[in-house]
Parts: sequence; C-alpha cells; structure tokens
Amino acid sequence: SVNTEITAELIAAGKVAHELDREHVFHSWQAQGPFDPMTIIKTEGSWVWDGEGNKLLDLSSQLVNTNIGHQHPKVVAAIQAQAATICTIAPQHVNDARSEAAKLIAELTPGNLNKIFFTNGGADANEHAIRMARVHTGKHKVLAAYRSYHGGTHLAVNVTGDPRRVASDNATDGVVHFFPAYLYRSYFNSTTEAEETQRALRHLEDTIILEGPSSIGALVLESIPGSAGIYVPPTGYMEGVRELTSKYGIILIADEVMAGFGRAGQWFAVNHWNITPDLLTFAKGVNSGYVPLGGVAISEEIFETFLQRPYPGGLTYSGHPLACAAAVATIKAMQEERMVENSARLGAEIIGPALTELKAKHPSVGDVRGTGCFWAVELVTNQETREPMAPYGGSSPAMAAVTGALKKAGMLPFVNFNRIHVVPPLNISDADLRTGLAMLDEALSVADGFVTD
Ligand code: PLP
Repeated sequence: SVNTEITAELIAAGKVAHELDREHVFHSWQAQGPFDPMTIIKTEGSWVWDGEGNKLLDLSSQLVNTNIGHQHPKVVAAIQAQAATICTIAPQHVNDARSEAAKLIAELTPGNLNKIFFTNGGADANEHAIRMARVHTGKHKVLAAYRSYHGGTHLAVNVTGDPRRVASDNATDGVVHFFPAYLYRSYFNSTTEAEETQRALRHLEDTIILEGPSSIGALVLESIPGSAGIYVPPTGYMEGVRELTSKYGIILIADEVMAGFGRAGQWFAVNHWNITPDLLTFAKGVNSGYVPLGGVAISEEIFETFLQRPYPGGLTYSGHPLACAAAVATIKAMQEERMVENSARLGAEIIGPALTELKAKHPSVGDVRGTGCFWAVELVTNQETREPMAPYGGSSPAMAAVTGALKKAGMLPFVNFNRIHVVPPLNISDADLRTGLAMLDEALSVADGFVTD
C-alpha cells in the first residue's frame, strides 16, 4: 500500500519471494536458467523499491501500462469497493461497472466506435478485432507492419512484425507484412517526411494490389508503434492508410494498446490525425494495468453485422467487474487530474527539448523521437552511418553497460535492442522527470565510450 515502510521484514519477505520465484515461476520471453529477476517490494507513484530496498524511478511505466503511476489511491479504493460488492459475474449478465466502463471508453474513442467488447488484455483484443473483421468482410488475409508488436497469442504473435514472431511459432495464418513509414531507417531511401509518406503509401498500395484486395479482410497497425521503436508516422501517412483501406474494402484496426489512454498526449494516438479506424484495440492504460483488461471499440457498420448473427467468440472474464471498476476510476482520475493534457505538456516542454539537447551533446544518440510521454532514444555507434548500438533483435555489451549505468543511477529503464524509451507515468512530477532525464544524460556518457569513427 501507499504507506508501506521499507523494513527489514519487508526485505526478508522479498528474499523468500525471490527464492520461491526461482523454484516455481516460469517467466515470459526468457531463457529460464540465467534469468535473475529483480524483486520489487514496494511501488508508489513514479517510484519502485527493489529487493534491497533501493528506490528506483520507474521511467518504464512497467511494460508501459502504469499511465497513472503506481497505487493511485482513487483506483485502489475503487477496486476495494468493487471487491466488497461483486467480485465477479459471468459476461452474459449486466454489471454496473462494465456498463459504465463501456460508456466512458466509447465516449473517448474517435468517430462512431460506440460499442465495446472487453477482453483480458491486448493480444486477445487484437485476436477478436481480426475475427470481427474476417467475419464482417468474409475475407481472411491480414496485412500488418514489420517492426510492430501485437501480442503473444497465436494469431497476435503472427501479426507481430518483430523477432518475437520469428522466435515463436512463426506460422503465417494469412498474415502478410509490409514496410511501415520509418524515416530514420527508411526502407525507401527517403530523405524527407513527405518523400517517406508518399513512398511508404505507394509500397502499401502495391502490396494490397499484388496480394489481391478481394482476399484482404483487415490491416492492423499500431497508431504509433510502441516497443518496436516509437517511430511516429510522418505527416499524411495515417490519413493515406485510412484512404487506401477504405478504397479497397479493408477493415482498419488501430492497435492503441500501448499508444492509447493519454500515453501519446491525446486520449488515443489516432487523434493526432483526423481519422477514424473501423476497430480500435486497447488494454494497458485503460486501467493502468491494475487489473487485467483489454478490449475492442467497434464501429456501427461492423456492429450491425452481428445484430442478428451471433458473434463467434467470448471469454469467461469479458468485462470483469474488478477490471472495469478500475477502468472507470482510472478514466475519471485521468480526467479530474488532467493527465492527458499533462502528458502533452511534459512531451512538448520537458522531454522533447531535453532529448534534443542530449542528441546534440552525445555522439551515441542517433535519433530522438516521440510525443506526449512516449519517446525513444536510438543509440548508434556512429551518427553518420547510423550503425545501431545493438543488432536488431539483440543486445550488446554497449547496451548492457548503458542499462547498468541507468540502474546504478537509480532508474528502472525500458530498454529494447539499441533503444532506451522515455515512457514515464503521465502524472510524474516535473522534478522527478528532470531527475530521470539527468540520469539518462549520465548514462549516455557510458554509451559515448562505445562510439567508433
Ligand atoms: N499491442 C501492443 C501495441 C502492445 O504493446 C502489446 C503489449 O506490449 C500488445 C498488443 C499485447 O498486449 P498484452 O500483453 O496485454 O496481451
């Protein structure tokens, strides 16, 4: 709880938990042998405490879900109150927490996405969105971008365009990947945003034509790709994707699992452009991950497909009362405390300018990009050649040294391949954020030591 003191007992309990973990817990995405997970014995706001009682600034927002920080008292109280009334109820019944969460989410989504199907997380939200698109269109094939992540279940990981798919079962299941717009490492030799937008859209249209529009049911795209590198699409790209999908009768699914709920300085990242997807998937920030929850916001047209025809899918915990009560309290707290506006301000006034300065100062920084509380710092061994400081899909002694320096400085960082993501809670204090950016500055000096001519 918020008032937990760090005591010798708490540290001792953490050590027992660590031993039990190593004996019995099987962890995500890891070789289990060499893995030595960090114990967390307390969390509060933007801070966590490790097993030794050290206080670390959580600039990772865990897996980028704690948008309101840890242990927000209003959300903790709402979960407790819901637990005291109805902990669980089957999805076919009406429940007030579920109804209110659906209303609040529908009101926040762009356009006519007025119906909400609840899932347990982001992967199953994408699985269900694709199923809805396939049934609605009668077309099976799915287009998705390289350098993307859409979840760890069978279809979601096959839609994913990063090494996690390749390491997983790597079936195709009707999924075809295309190259997204990504100016810093342009697949199209573009040198300007305008060129990148035009060439990436041309490539996408060619892919659609060559794959056959009559066979493509859906295109899944993160509005701003998250763990794949926070590369914000250039001006005009998302509008172009919307136009092409409408032109060829393809359902556009915007994956807002990481970018949504204020992370990118808007309630949803698609709000940065004047477009409405046909389906929008969410999870993580909807209730900051305090209780697992995800979902699909559904357009009127797709909803009508299922007016008389049963939807072929469901989950025991769809619209779980504890998760929905947490979502209601989270959204209200975000509105009352103006967290989305704060996210935009922190990006524009603190993070963006600070990262621009770090790029000018450190030869190891190749690119900085982002918006709101959603930023990536891409490290290179040479700014001219843009050689990544770790290979795509891997790590390197240089990145390990930088990560070590960040932790030593007192930060819990989000590091992926050759990137450090600056992804704090949206309500982090300005002072804490500046402290974190100073830690980053310090650690980048370590990275500079790995720069070559
Ligand atoms: N989509 C995106 C963009 C994500 O970042 C993630 C998780 O990192 C997912 C989907 C999968 O969500 P979950 O882990 O809740 O299944």
